[in-house]
Amino acid sequence: MKYDLVVVRLGEVTIKGRNRSKFEGMILSRIRSALAESPRLEYERTYGRIYIRLNGESFEWVESRLKDVFGVHSFSPAVRSEHALEAVRDAALKLMNGLDPAPRTFKVTVKRAWKPYPHDSQEMNHLVGAHVLRNTPALKVDVRNPDVELKVDIQPEGIYLSCAVIPGAGGFPLGMNGKAMLLLSGGIDSPVAGWMAMRKGLEIEAVHFHSYPFTSEQATEKVITLTQRLAHYGGKIKLHLVPFTELQTRMAQSGHDHLIITLMRRTMLRIAERLAEKSGALAIVTGDSLGQVASQTLGSMNVIGRTVTLPLLRPLVMMDKQEIIRIAERIGTYETSILPYEDCCTLFVPKSPATNPNLRIVEKVESVLGSDLERMIEEAVQGTETIVMTEAGRSAPREAAAAPAEEDRWF
Ligand code: ATP
Ligand code: MG
Repeated sequence: MKYDLVVVRLGEVTIKGRNRSKFEGMILSRIRSALAESPRLEYERTYGRIYIRLNGESFEWVESRLKDVFGVHSFSPAVRSEHALEAVRDAALKLMNGLDPAPRTFKVTVKRAWKPYPHDSQEMNHLVGAHVLRNTPALKVDVRNPDVELKVDIQPEGIYLSCAVIPGAGGFPLGMNGKAMLLLSGGIDSPVAGWMAMRKGLEIEAVHFHSYPFTSEQATEKVITLTQRLAHYGGKIKLHLVPFTELQTRMAQSGHDHLIITLMRRTMLRIAERLAEKSGALAIVTGDSLGQVASQTLGSMNVIGRTVTLPLLRPLVMMDKQEIIRIAERIGTYETSILPYEDCCTLFVPKSPATNPNLRIVEKVESVLGSDLERMIEEAVQGTETIVMTEAGRSAPREAAAAPAEEDRWF
């Protein structure tokens, strides 16, 4: 079936006034960049909607890109007809006959947004429906549970007809709600947390802690691949690779085996907070899910989270693993996440990590490390390498974290 255009409906209907206009403008620019490969497409924005004129481009290609654009509530392939009744009837029949598989039942729904149109909705419903029925002997009407709903939308500039509504990714346009730093491990959860953060309109930068040579090059490559996949949704994503070997080794020697994970997580957050400060991120996102492991009990989250002042966002906190896995599969990160390479936290894992660490003891252990801890944290920040990933791959050679020139080029 050859469609004329795509009708895009925008999400978050609660947004009103000037914010609404900003919201819609941002979605349009995200859609344009997702579809930038095709110069044939033309765009038109009306209240709550965007029309994309296909000009011969295939709907399937547009669909494959559009379904991942945040802020899009749903979209439909459509044909556009003149107001003349004969033209609408022809267009409806052509559209219905072009469907594959051919539907057995249908119903017509008419919306008369343009009131001067001579036929009211009910009349129009009948006029179009009867014409389709007469010319398609196998087709029947079913108003309750039809195979296809033929929507007829009467607007001042013409009439739009469509038969399918495809759900969009929802949420807010990317970046509309600011920037956050994602703690990205090689596991299943954190890439999903990153996707959910982006869907809520947050631009993300990712930070990964590696303990080379205890962890392999492949473990880092895995995280790079995950970032690349996330860049399919987020455009360009900066990935900060933080050397964690010294800190981790030091904590393993602290004599408090059961607190190693707590100490490590706190240190990770502190480093992430410093990187966030440098890049203007106002929150830290993690893949924590309540009760999943010892470091994700309420007691642990409390002690771990207290070390930083930026808001900690945990999109998965109330979700079950199966739900998380389903999203991971859908967004295309699962396959990579289940590759075997160990990340730094699977090393040095104590036999019985604390599920309810004592804040005072943790702070005491840290104060014994004192200026040494501060030095190691600062060195880790200084030694951080930053790469930029796009969907197509690495977009710049590895560079030091906060070189000013880097800011100019990427944003
Ligand atoms: P994931 O599947 O995301 O690894 P997990 O269930 O394995 O999660 P943990 O290993 O306890 O959970 O990690 C909890 C969170 O801490 C992760 O979701 C991630 O946000 C962060 N994290 C853990 N290890 C690292 C790491 N090496 N680098 C960056 N962030 C990490
Ligand atoms: Mg993990």
